[in-house]
Amino acid sequence: MAIATINPATGETVREFDSLTEAQVDEALDRAVSGFASYRTTSFEQRATWLRATADLLEAEADGVAAMMTEEMGKTLASAKAETLKCAKAFRYYADHGAAMLADEPADAEAVGASRAYMRYQPLGVVLAIMPWNFPLWQAVRFAAPALMAGNVGILKHASNVPQSALYLEDVLRRAGFPEGCFQTLLIGSGMIESILRDPRVAAATLTGSEPAGRSVAAIAGDEVKHTVLELGGSDPYIVMPSADIAAAAKTAVTARVQNNGQSCIAAKRFIVHADVYDQFVDAFTDGFRGLVIGDPTDEATDVGPLATEQGRTDLEELVDDAVGKGAKVLIGGNRVERPGWFYEPTILADITDDMQIYSAEAFGPVAALYRVENIDEAIAIANDTTFGLGGNAWTTDTAEQDQFIDRIESGQVFINGMTTSYPELGFGGIKRSGNGRELTSHGMHEFCNIKTVWIA
Ligand code: NDP
Repeated sequence: MAIATINPATGETVREFDSLTEAQVDEALDRAVSGFASYRTTSFEQRATWLRATADLLEAEADGVAAMMTEEMGKTLASAKAETLKCAKAFRYYADHGAAMLADEPADAEAVGASRAYMRYQPLGVVLAIMPWNFPLWQAVRFAAPALMAGNVGILKHASNVPQSALYLEDVLRRAGFPEGCFQTLLIGSGMIESILRDPRVAAATLTGSEPAGRSVAAIAGDEVKHTVLELGGSDPYIVMPSADIAAAAKTAVTARVQNNGQSCIAAKRFIVHADVYDQFVDAFTDGFRGLVIGDPTDEATDVGPLATEQGRTDLEELVDDAVGKGAKVLIGGNRVERPGWFYEPTILADITDDMQIYSAEAFGPVAALYRVENIDEAIAIANDTTFGLGGNAWTTDTAEQDQFIDRIESGQVFINGMTTSYPELGFGGIKRSGNGRELTSHGMHEFCNIKTVWIA
C-alpha cells in the first residue's frame, strides 16, 4: 500500500511519501535505544511537564490538526477537533496521575521474611506501535501518553493512509520538549514490521487494527518472546429491553453506529431489541438515520462523511449485498452514494440470519444489523455468539437485568444506558478475538513495565 494522503471525500491523491530505507530504520532504532538510555532516568515530574506541554500544543493547534485528519481519512471536522482535544486531555491525565500509578507498590514484608518488599514499575524500553487510520491521533496517543509517562520510548508505524497525522505526532512531541529518540514515526509499509519486531533493540509491541494484522504481529512477537497488546476490533451488541427509555436508546443508537462514519472498533454494530419494544425502537432508529446529513466532512452540517478507503467501501458493500441476497430486509440505505469519494448510505438491515456474513463479520461502516428477541437469555445468547469481545451496550432500568448484562456479556467493557466510549480515565480493551491486554489507566501503563519484585533482608 502506497504511503499517501488520498482525500476520501474526492478520491484525489493529495501527497505521496517515500518509505524509509532499511538503513534509515536502523538509524531510528539506534536513536530510540540511546534516547531510552537517558529518558528512563528522567523524573516523573519532568515527563509530566513534557506531557502537559504536548497538551497545550494540541489545544492551540486543534483546528489545523482536525483539518489534516479530515483530509486524510474523511471524519467530520467536528469529530476530528473533538479527537484532538481528547488527546490533549489524555496527556494531561497521565501527567497528573502517572506518578501515582508508577509508585512503588508495597508488599507484606513480614510474610516473606524481609525488612522491606515491594513491586517497582520500570519501563521496558523501545515499544513498536502499529496503529490504524480510523482515529489517527487518538489510537496512537492512547498508547503514547501512558507509555511515555512510564519512561518507555515509542516508534510508530502508522497506517499508510495517514502519514501526515503520523508525522505530526512525532513533531508535536518533539516541540513539547521530549528529547530525541523518545518518539519517532517510521514511514514504512507493513512488510518491514517483521524485521523491526525481531530486532533485539525492540522490547515489545502494541497493535490496533484488523485480526490478520494482529495475528501476524502476535505470532512474530511470540516467536521472539516479546510482549504485545492487541486491539483488534469488535462487533458490539446494543441491547434494548422494555424498561428502557426507548427514545433515548434510539437516539444514542444512531450516534453509536454512525460515529466516525461507522468506522470505530467500539461502534455498536448489532442492535438486539426485545419484541415488546421492537417496533417502537426500530421506528425511532430509522427516523434517526433518515435525518442524517451525508456529505462533505468539512461542512459543519454533515453527520456522515465518506469511508476512509475505497477497499473499505467495497468490503462494506459486499457484506450488505450478501445479507440482502440471503433475505435481509433493507429498512433504509443499502447503496453507495453516486458522487466522487467513497460514500455509503447509512443503512439498517433487519431479518438477519446466521448464514449471512454480517452475522459474524465486523461491519466497518455505517451499517446496522437488527435482531428481535423474546427475552434476556436470547438477547445475551446473540450478543455472545461472536468471536469478538470488545464492548457491549445494554439499555434497561431494571437493576437485576443490569447486573445480568454486566456479568454475562462477554466483552472487555460494558456500558449500561449509554454507548461504549473510550475515556482517558477508563481501561480499554477486549477479550476473545478482539485482542488482549489493556490500554489506558494504570493497567494500560503497566503493560509496558517490568513489574520488578524487590525483596530486602
Ligand atoms: P489493518 O489491520 O490492515 O491496518 C492497521 C495497521 O496494521 C496499519 O498500520 C497497517 O499498515 C498495519 N498492518 C497491516 N497488515 C499488517 C501485517 N500483516 N502485519 C503488521 N502490520 C500490519 O487494517 P485496515 O486498514 O486494512 O482495515 C481492515 C479492517 O481492520 C477493518 O475493516 C476493521 O475491521 C479492522 N480495523 C480495526 C480497527 C480498530 O480500531 N480496531 C482500526 C482499523 C481497522 P498499512 O496501513 O501500511 O497496511
